[in-house]
Amino acid sequence: MIEIINLTTKLYVEAGNLLILKASPKSIDLSYISTAFKSASIVQTVLNLYRQIVCCLNGRLSKSWDIGMKKHQYLICSLAVVTALAGCQQESEDVAEKQQAAEAASTQVDTKEVVVSKVEQEEVRKAHNPIDDHTYGNLHEVDLKHLDLDLTVDFEAKSLKGYVDLSFDRLQDEVSELILDTRDINVSKVELNQNEQWVAGEFELAEKDEVMGSKLTIQLEDGVNKVRVYYATQPQASGLQWLTPEQTDGKKHPFMYSQAQAIHARSFVPVQDSPAVRITYNATIRTPKELLAVMSAHNEPDTELDGEYHFEMPQAIPTYLIAIGVGDLKFKAMSDRTGVYAEPAILDAAVAEFDDTEDMVKVTEDLYGPYRWGRYDLLILPPAFPYGGMENPRLSFITPTVIAGDKSLVNLIAHELAHSWSGNLVTNANWHDFWLNEGFTSYVENRIMEELFGRERALMEQSLAVQDLRQAVQDLPEEYTVLNVDLKGADPDDAFSTVPYTKGQMFLVWLEEKFGREVFDAFLVKYFDHFAFQSITTEQFKAYLKENLLNKHPDIVSEEEINTWIHEPMLPEMMPNPTSDAFNIVDAKTKQLLSGEITLAELGTKEWTVHEWLHFINNLPTNMSNDDMMAMDAEFKLTESTNNEIAHAWLLLSLRSGYEVVMPRLENYLISIGRRKLIVPLYKQLMETEQGAEFAKRVYKVARPGYHPLAQATLDEVVK
Ligand SMILES: [Zn+2]
Repeated sequence: MIEIINLTTKLYVEAGNLLILKASPKSIDLSYISTAFKSASIVQTVLNLYRQIVCCLNGRLSKSWDIGMKKHQYLICSLAVVTALAGCQQESEDVAEKQQAAEAASTQVDTKEVVVSKVEQEEVRKAHNPIDDHTYGNLHEVDLKHLDLDLTVDFEAKSLKGYVDLSFDRLQDEVSELILDTRDINVSKVELNQNEQWVAGEFELAEKDEVMGSKLTIQLEDGVNKVRVYYATQPQASGLQWLTPEQTDGKKHPFMYSQAQAIHARSFVPVQDSPAVRITYNATIRTPKELLAVMSAHNEPDTELDGEYHFEMPQAIPTYLIAIGVGDLKFKAMSDRTGVYAEPAILDAAVAEFDDTEDMVKVTEDLYGPYRWGRYDLLILPPAFPYGGMENPRLSFITPTVIAGDKSLVNLIAHELAHSWSGNLVTNANWHDFWLNEGFTSYVENRIMEELFGRERALMEQSLAVQDLRQAVQDLPEEYTVLNVDLKGADPDDAFSTVPYTKGQMFLVWLEEKFGREVFDAFLVKYFDHFAFQSITTEQFKAYLKENLLNKHPDIVSEEEINTWIHEPMLPEMMPNPTSDAFNIVDAKTKQLLSGEITLAELGTKEWTVHEWLHFINNLPTNMSNDDMMAMDAEFKLTESTNNEIAHAWLLLSLRSGYEVVMPRLENYLISIGRRKLIVPLYKQLMETEQGAEFAKRVYKVARPGYHPLAQATLDEVVK
């Protein structure tokens, strides 16, 4: 028994769910247990068990191990831990003294703070992994190849339950562990596949790190290249949202979907959760019979509803692209290879809005080479989805807030589709290189828009994006305005901004202008092909750029300029400043309007596109008088706009100008939409005044349960 105890430093306790902590000798402090469980009775149980171990030091354990312990309700603690805890030495023979020390330790339970400091945790993270410091995974020892998932979707418990088989190659001779990432996952059992037989395996789940989650370490035996982890997700899984029927369009059935980027796959699959890892996967998903499951895999358009669905994803993808959606979904084809999954009530509107999708695929193939993923479908999510879209391969997840009735916001589809080349095919190896995904994608998106809708619209979209970017860099910490951003120790979600998107895009627009479109297009085609199905770093990109563009066309662009773009903060002076003739006209008219030369009716808005409206509203002074706001509202019905982007811009201007007529509309807007881009700036603006803050707090209280965990996390920091 003592031997077993000496081998480990683990502490297992059951508290409702099976919670497993790892207490290192350094951090063994009963206050940690107290903080973690906030339950006196459990703390007491733990203390009693500690006392029993202290007894065990003197050979008096006898049957106390078995007292009151159920199957997985047990405690193992190392001799080192126990002696540290008890404040006495191992060789001491005096049981009474040890018991006294344990008693003394127990009295500290409620008074001490958590021992593991944030700084310490960040140091551990920094030191961990040269490839990707947002994973615990031992990527240098093990090459994860394939997952087989078998999961049941339990809406009542808000949990995915079942197992995952992880198949891997060993990269070194001596590999004794498989280390995975998890967050808020209950692991019940691990098995090793040994000579085609499943045998019990040993594992330990570490205490939870605020950003990284909990490291899951599985002991490997010789020759084992596949392990099975039985697990259940918890309702607070950061990568899943569970919606009640009331939160859906149809109001009859629940809905569940995942959002794994950046590091949330670990909250619903124990995996080496890094974009440097590429896996194929198969899945069996069990749902209530009346619901359909879809995944970022091959989805069969005419799937019958039967509550059991099988998926295959034969192309190797990074783990953040594992995705699932379950709900009352119907499918409608838009072409042989494109279609829409949506709740029945919005299916037709979505198909009408997005019926250019096939043309978008063709145009992108003409520009950058074949689409390599088979089908390209869209899944329309409920309005709580915190993003505009997510490029899950073969099946982009899309917010319904872009269904405007006039295709004015379909650049979002162009964006998600573009990821099929930049991001999904050629992937950032870690989150410091995120701009490789988003800068390239924003550039490709805009090229698709230009091909389909013309140069003027493409320029308007560039110009709006650059206006946003210029504002964003004023508000961001300077270090987050660097393209190749340093995220060591930070949560990638915290650094999320328009910088990797639009600054990255402008870098590529600048390269295009320097080398000419023909040369740059040819370079991109080769780049996507050369790195297809690989995850690369900024340094790899720079080396490829140098060899294949800079050196082949010398004296056009210097390496110094490239480094300024990629490694310097803020916006370089050489950044292109896209202008559009249409916007120039809007600017001139606005000037005339503000100086009283023309009336609202003479503004000439009849033919304005959504983009011109956005440009107009975004560039009005923020101290408009109430009379002027009211007159504009009466003329253009802006408070009632059903275009979510226009409504957003108008509501923001109204708050800045103190135009309170919009408040009921604002309340409704904030409660019905969960897309962060549209709601976070409004909450931030509200918090600027005392009265606004009161309004924000009241509305947020109502709206919060309907928001995704990501939006909740962002807004909890804003509305407080
Ligand atoms: Zn994107």
